[in-house]
Amino acid sequence: MAGGCSPMPTIDDARASLAEHFGYQDFRPGQERVIRAILAGRDVMAVMPTGAGKSVCYQVPATLLGGLTLVVSPLISLMADQVRALKEAGIRGSFYNSTLKPHVRPEVLRRALAGWYDLMYVAPERLSDPEFRAFAAQAQVSLVAVDEAHCVSQWGQDFRPAYCHIAEFVDSLPRRPRLAALTATATGRVQDDVRNLLGLRDPVVEVSGFDRPNLALASFELTPKRRELWVTNYVKAHPHDTGIVYATTRKKVEQIAEELRDAGARVAAYHAGMSDVERTLSQEAFVNDDVQVMVATNAFGMGIDKSNVRYVINCGLPQSLEEYYQEAGRAGRDGEPAECYLLWSRGDIRTCHFFIDNIEFAEGVTPREQRLLRERREHLLGEMIGYAMSTVCLRARVLRYFGQRMEVPEGGCGGCSVCTGQTPDRYLRTERRRAAGEGRVFGVGDVRRVEAPEPEAWVHDAPDEELFQRLRVLRKSLADEAHVPPYVVFSDRTLRAMVRNRPRTEEELLEVPGVGQKKLERYGAAFLEELWRL
Ligand code: ADP
Ligand code: ZN
Repeated sequence: MAGGCSPMPTIDDARASLAEHFGYQDFRPGQERVIRAILAGRDVMAVMPTGAGKSVCYQVPATLLGGLTLVVSPLISLMADQVRALKEAGIRGSFYNSTLKPHVRPEVLRRALAGWYDLMYVAPERLSDPEFRAFAAQAQVSLVAVDEAHCVSQWGQDFRPAYCHIAEFVDSLPRRPRLAALTATATGRVQDDVRNLLGLRDPVVEVSGFDRPNLALASFELTPKRRELWVTNYVKAHPHDTGIVYATTRKKVEQIAEELRDAGARVAAYHAGMSDVERTLSQEAFVNDDVQVMVATNAFGMGIDKSNVRYVINCGLPQSLEEYYQEAGRAGRDGEPAECYLLWSRGDIRTCHFFIDNIEFAEGVTPREQRLLRERREHLLGEMIGYAMSTVCLRARVLRYFGQRMEVPEGGCGGCSVCTGQTPDRYLRTERRRAAGEGRVFGVGDVRRVEAPEPEAWVHDAPDEELFQRLRVLRKSLADEAHVPPYVVFSDRTLRAMVRNRPRTEEELLEVPGVGQKKLERYGAAFLEELWRL
């Protein structure tokens, strides 16, 4: 437990912890500001896009502050994985939620009191349990980090009533810990709610830019038939990549999944009509790289930590641009190039209006409130449609929606379908040529070769690609052995850096971003061997 007179940790201590546990040399600017504030004892509100590295903002302080860091998160199905990933990084974590067997719970709390853990994930509902309250009153809670903090707001789409009791829980503690609220999506209104309803005190507010430069954005209007063909061709053309295909209904999910399976892809599906067990299995298969594609409704994905998702394809229109950017943003969290496609049709627009006209309201919602809510939903949808049909830079458009201005360079942003003048036909040429009776069925490989060259940053050298694939295979087998998802061993970005730098020694390997002391000990030898295998 923290002694009363231990000196306050500094940002240099935090940097050392980052290097040791995560293998990164420095914080990103937003992370540094957040961590400085937390170390100084301030409350924080951090609005940072997916992939910006929010978890480091509380995981690193947890290793330094002494006492216990509580992380409130709605994602209970992920907690066990998160704790395992922390363990891989050499951080002592635990979790407390309804999936723990009742007889295990007191033991977890006893260990936490005995100082076994630096960090504990906890479901918001558990904060009201008398056992947990009694525990928290005795534990030295030094930081409460509220992940997915937008869940406290009824204006967001993920409202969780239990989030409304967090402020009261914090007040119930004998000594008020620092409070850090973190979220990836917050318009001004949601930010106000987060600040007020969580009871943040004079918080340091960090709003990072929403731009995700490694994401290529595209929006194509395609009829449902054509877009399914498009998806199949795309998946066939990317056999080594993992991706997500979002569809709007369960039926569509099943249909697309089946088409992909028929085309020989390894596929998992996920929607609300499946049992809990089926969904968990699907999610695990995806996270562990056992399947190539996840086809899902929007029920899938909040907080999916998988960093090596290389593409997200939306078949159909989400209800808002917030929802869309969140879904698309699940691609490329490791910072490596990734692609986001919105494939929409006129019929989708009608379907969305129909949904809004037929919302079922809870009892007691007055006709006036109903009208207001419908108007609000129509407004959100209008922005979504505006993006889909945009004739100006898609990146600039989505950033403007989140209140951020972007100067589009004269030659375009270089990474959206409007600026690059991309056409939807890329993955439809097989069909067209066949129809044109050229007498030969073009395999997808041919389709790719007739393409104009892709932007340089997007393509990797062939021998490098071969080595990268070998490292991936090694990563998968080590991950399976350790019972962790592959990205927990090393991210795609770290593997790419290994391929680029070709480290020869353990010291050189330690310089690769993402290789920390713990991982070096565990996996260093195996990767060095693979890198220099002839
Ligand atoms: P978020 O929760 O904001 O979506 P994560 O915490 O999952 O983001 O981090 C996204 C990725 O960025 C992870 O692969 C993580 O290891 C990496 N990352 C985090 N901090 C840094 C850093 N300072 N330097 C390099 N990579 C980082
Ligand atoms: Zn653009």
